[in-house]
Amino acid sequence: MLRKLKDIGKFLHDYHLSYVIGVMVMPPAINTELVERAKSLARPKRLSKDCVSAEVGCALITSKNNLFVGVSIDCACGIGTCAEHGAIQNMLVSGESRIKTIVAVAGNGTVLPPCGRCRELIYQVNGMNREANIIVGKHKTRKLKDLLPEPWQKAF
Ligand SMILES: [Zn+2]
Repeated sequence: MLRKLKDIGKFLHDYHLSYVIGVMVMPPAINTELVERAKSLARPKRLSKDCVSAEVGCALITSKNNLFVGVSIDCACGIGTCAEHGAIQNMLVSGESRIKTIVAVAGNGTVLPPCGRCRELIYQVNGMNREANIIVGKHKTRKLKDLLPEPWQKAF
């Protein structure tokens, strides 16, 4: 019985199952599960008068089919972080940096494409993440390299 996202990912990997739609090569089941997982985390909590957490949730699956999650932190003076940061930090704690698929979702279910800073973070933690699948809509996925086509690092 496939109960966990990790199990689904392993099953699909082991049996070479995926769907190809245009430039998108992703098993739809994993996308749907990631979106739902991220949405389930988006439960805003006011921590103080200046800080609200979890307005956005993020879920990512790594190249080793491990799932990591995070939530946004919205603080005064612009010192908060996006949900992607939390998920990426949790991934890094486990010694991984290669993202297969990532998504951020607001509490109302809206899928949020990563901001420019997060696109850059995804790229900088592992250059191979240019091939990462970024879920940018309920049924829309793009490769990071399509969202970040001209890395500034090429100039150096
Ligand atoms: Zn961001």
